Amino acid sequence: MAIDKLGSSLYEALRKIIRAPVVDEKVVKELVKDIQRALLQADVNVHLVLELSKNIESRALEEKLPSGISRCDHVVKVVYEELTRFLGEKPAALPIETGKTNVLMLVGIQGSGKTTSAAKLARFFKKRGLKAALVCADTYRPGAYAQLRQLASSVGVSVYGKEKEKDSVEVALQGVEEFRSEKYDLIVIDTAGRHKDEKSLIEEMKQLIKKVEPDEVTLVIDGTIGQQAFAQAKAFNEATNIGSIFVAKLDGSARGGGALSAVAATGAPIKFIGTGEKIDNIELFDPPRFVGRLLGMGDLASLIEKVKEAEVKVPEKKARAMMSGKFSLEDMYEQFEAMQKMGSLKRIMKMVPGFSYNLPDDKIDVAEEKMRRWRFIIQSMTREERENPQLLNSSRIRRIARGAGVNERDVKELTNQFFAMKKIMKKIMRQRSPIFGKMMRGFT
Ligand code: GDP
Repeated sequence: MAIDKLGSSLYEALRKIIRAPVVDEKVVKELVKDIQRALLQADVNVHLVLELSKNIESRALEEKLPSGISRCDHVVKVVYEELTRFLGEKPAALPIETGKTNVLMLVGIQGSGKTTSAAKLARFFKKRGLKAALVCADTYRPGAYAQLRQLASSVGVSVYGKEKEKDSVEVALQGVEEFRSEKYDLIVIDTAGRHKDEKSLIEEMKQLIKKVEPDEVTLVIDGTIGQQAFAQAKAFNEATNIGSIFVAKLDGSARGGGALSAVAATGAPIKFIGTGEKIDNIELFDPPRFVGRLLGMGDLASLIEKVKEAEVKVPEKKARAMMSGKFSLEDMYEQFEAMQKMGSLKRIMKMVPGFSYNLPDDKIDVAEEKMRRWRFIIQSMTREERENPQLLNSSRIRRIARGAGVNERDVKELTNQFFAMKKIMKKIMRQRSPIFGKMMRGFT
């Protein structure tokens, strides 16, 4: 069962409980069964499934409900927390230090996706402004260097390798030296995986690591191998200090859940996942976010809770109209008011999937201040202008700015933001993030 499918069956399981008129023991037990089935079908380890479902069931039934929270919200929260706990509570740190040349060595068995993943990593960091290069230390497989060279050129990063060199340590050292002298931020070394048995592969890997002294060794694991990922990750992790794991091929994988949970069980942090053959099919592995996506939600429980608190209700007809693009400044104003009621933007943003990731506090403070100013600006508009912002010509803008005690620039910024938001809303609604979509409908 592919990851997406696992997500949708977990989501279906949760949806049942969200829709149930009363959440009693029977409903919870049924939910636990559904979750078990979904996880087992995704090849998650049986013991893990049992442990997980036991925890969910006992917490869901026995924990005292915080006041104001329904059993249903509580159960959703428990499921989310338990799944997050088993994959890791937060993303692992990136293997990059500024001000030096970071050397990342990729190891793994043949066909796991090393070469592809090396290029993906180089591109990933290049996109983030780092000067990245690739080194081909695979001196066994004919054509390995050609493959990496071709990938490197498609990504637009430098590459080092030698067609005829047999000594992988030699090539790796030369490559590192060359790029270090050119002050690269990151060197990703691709290593050989072709060996009859894992023992000799591991021996060579140890030699290479000893001589080259990479800052981090990343093990690449094929996500389609399911439970076997555990033994593989464990063997490598015992042989050397594996700094991070890259689980490749988690896209169409039939056994993605198995690989992920198995790797998570070794204790070595998964930092990246590969989600397709294309070079940009790479994602940072952020466990809570990943679980959120599996379930089709962010920190759903707390968001539900806050939404309820604010009792923001929009008539269905209006919500539908807004989604189809009939979103006016009047609606935007109502949203600001509603958000105001829900509490600080900081807290809300952190609960929304996609936003929650790495948003610095000072940025949110700026946003909060802006929102306050925008409320004043909209207040200074006539009803007609709010409904039809296209009317805002320069003399109207001047009047509004004066009324709100702001610059004309601020008014223009608001209208630009409004048109951008309108676009984004359409997009969000088109995406199929089921619960989140439904929720947004509830409060936009
Ligand atoms: P290596 O032998 O470990 O260097 O593996 P390669 O990088 O040559 O990859 C083996 C195969 O897996 C190639 O056909 C890649 O296109 C494919 N592959 C690598 N990563 C992914 C991924 O994330 N998703 C999919 N679908 N295929 C991948």
